[in-house]
Amino acid sequence: MRAIDFAPIARDLRTLMLGTIRDQEPLARHTSFRIGGPARVYLEPSTEEGVVRSLEWLKERGIPYFILGQGTNVLVSDRGVEAVVISTSRGLKEIAIADRRMEAGSGVLLTKLSHLAERSALAGLEFAISIPGTLGGALVMNAGAHGSAMVEIVKTVRVWDPTVGVHQISAEEAEFEYRQSRFQRSPWIALAATMELESGDRERIRQTMQHFMATRKSTQPVGEPNAGSVFKNPKPLFAGQLVESIGAKGWRAGDAEVSSLHANFIINRGQARACDVLQLMRRIRFVIYQRYHVVLRPEVRWIGPGEGGASTTWENLWCEEGVGLTEPCE
Ligand SMILES: Cc1cc2nc3c(=O)[nH]c(=O)nc-3n(C[C@H](O)[C@H](O)[C@H](O)COP(=O)(O)OP(=O)(O)OC[C@H]3O[C@@H](n4cnc5c(N)ncnc54)[C@H](O)[C@@H]3O)c2cc1C
Repeated sequence: MRAIDFAPIARDLRTLMLGTIRDQEPLARHTSFRIGGPARVYLEPSTEEGVVRSLEWLKERGIPYFILGQGTNVLVSDRGVEAVVISTSRGLKEIAIADRRMEAGSGVLLTKLSHLAERSALAGLEFAISIPGTLGGALVMNAGAHGSAMVEIVKTVRVWDPTVGVHQISAEEAEFEYRQSRFQRSPWIALAATMELESGDRERIRQTMQHFMATRKSTQPVGEPNAGSVFKNPKPLFAGQLVESIGAKGWRAGDAEVSSLHANFIINRGQARACDVLQLMRRIRFVIYQRYHVVLRPEVRWIGPGEGGASTTWENLWCEEGVGLTEPCE
């Protein structure tokens, strides 16, 4: 792996005055797991133009970068990332509503959009009230709950593409599938999206949202640091049921623990490290494969050191025998 000197990169980025820049920023501060080593440089551009200029600047110089929304669907290595981590949380915040169309920047929280839709008596975003994270993360993941998902409401996405710059794509071009989208297979960055909603009855929308929130509270460990469902459902089966069936609730590695409320959630009991979570994931995956011949695929996205500064592939982290950890606990 090529060693990069990030000190001059941070200095040059500062002179561009695109937003806040921090060196060696612990990513544990920016993930719902409260886990993750430092980002070599952490950049919070303050406008969409700042986000695009940062991306162009880094691309031109071949400097590795990584986009972070609210960090509610990521497991970041304890060793952090040798890259510039760009947060969308400040710069991509615009929201506009006209008739039944809502346009929002990728850094806007999904729950905020859900509340705004309710206030405008627009139906279609009720499911999003219980999904933490930004619109950008929800586009990448085709986030969904309570039988609905982003694919049903998204019409267009404004993207930054390293080869052609900023342009607009249709929902079809985003290739949404169950917890999947083209964003996971391409270097595209989502800047903003338009969503089409339905006119609805405000009180009914509010009640549906309340019902979803109550369901969430009673079935998931919402008060403890976690990253939502760890594994995707191997349809038609449910990951949570499989994990529960092997008696994994309460399994522990360091301070990482399989939730006793929902077996597909791993919670951080205090000082859990990424390697602890990985250890639990490997163990669960191995036992389920042995018992059912089902390979569980992670829903949570991995961010760790790797070729070109950051790696997002799980494959070299697995070891079907549960030995030979590549992410050692020291
Ligand atoms: C308690 C809890 C409950 C949850 N429940 C659900 C649920 O019911 N349904 C569900 O689908 N998910 C759920 N999740 C997971 C998570 O909330 C969603 O996946 C969410 O959409 C992630 O958004 P984020 O901004 O936090 O993304 P992040 O975690 O910051 O990023 C996720 C991925 O998207 C990429 N990314 C982020 N923004 C952009 C962008 N603008 N352009 C390109 N790439 C980008 C990142 O690089 C990363 O690979 C839950 C999580 C928690 C903690």
